[in-house]
Amino acid sequence: MTAGRPANYDLAGKRVWVAGHRGLVGSALVRRLASENCEILTVGRDTVDLRRQADVERWMEQAKPDAIFEAAATVGGIFTNENRPAEFLYDNLAIETNIIEAARRVGVGKLLFLGSSCIYPRLAPQPIPENALLTGPLEPTNQWYALAKIAGSMLCQAYRRQYGLDFISTMPTNLYGPGDNFELATSHVIPALMAKAHAAKAKGGAEIVVWGTGTPRREFLYVDDLADALVFLMKNYSDEEHINVGTGSEITIKELATLIARVVGADGKLRFDSKMSDGTPRKLVDSTRLLSMGWRPRTGLEQGLRQTYDWYLKSAAARS
Ligand code: GDP
Repeated sequence: MTAGRPANYDLAGKRVWVAGHRGLVGSALVRRLASENCEILTVGRDTVDLRRQADVERWMEQAKPDAIFEAAATVGGIFTNENRPAEFLYDNLAIETNIIEAARRVGVGKLLFLGSSCIYPRLAPQPIPENALLTGPLEPTNQWYALAKIAGSMLCQAYRRQYGLDFISTMPTNLYGPGDNFELATSHVIPALMAKAHAAKAKGGAEIVVWGTGTPRREFLYVDDLADALVFLMKNYSDEEHINVGTGSEITIKELATLIARVVGADGKLRFDSKMSDGTPRKLVDSTRLLSMGWRPRTGLEQGLRQTYDWYLKSAAARS
């Protein structure tokens, strides 16, 4: 364990870089940080390619952030994870190593790294405690992404040990919410099923195709709740062990599809396409450590799905 660092970091008056501010998590962080008394820094990929070390060093030397939320990553759902292994491994290794090393060079005071619950072994005990990391083989459909995220988390640990830096890492469960990617080939299950249910409704009750068998179970966290947890952890957590962020509730994909169809108002039948992968059978993280610090999620799944669908309708309307 790292030696006695005070676990309260004050964001007031700080320059805070949200890396990946256009993504699902980054945009929620920008919304959440608006109510903190800090200066939010962002930079687009047109200006800085985070996979290029020289770009990242140049930006960091000029921006001089005090704190960083490292929410930039190449991400996607089960299908795109399986089909773009090189990008999922290379991009994520490059982005995280570039940001973490540049943060050391310019003297960033605190860095929070975003991992993912897919870092855990495919058949980890449920709910998954933090110490299940590296105790068994990974889920093959997302092993490339998982390996990169494991390296990023370990890098924070190594920088704490060798340089005494206050870099922490968090492992959120499956996320959803406003700002998500709704493209069917690359998206995660919630936006995919929402877009499919919406299209089925428009066709007057057409069937909704659900990938896999419908039996896997997943835990879902509303992204604005995640952003709130990340700000809480930035302020209150300082330890070398990564920390899980979840809700404690899980649902089968079949139940989820039924709920999404209800929220969208689609009454077509569900059809399960078992040629598509199920992925890991269950992925419920044990959030006891975070909950014992006093943080709680606020948004139930149905409410979060309704808010996400409202956002989708507005954004789809804006595109047309
Ligand atoms: P995962 O948690 O890494 O497996 O990520 P996903 O959100 O992509 O998938 C979660 C589960 O939902 C898997 O069992 C998928 O097979 C299932 N699923 C059902 N329909 C869909 C769909 O249309 N898109 C995606 N991405 N997953 C789906």
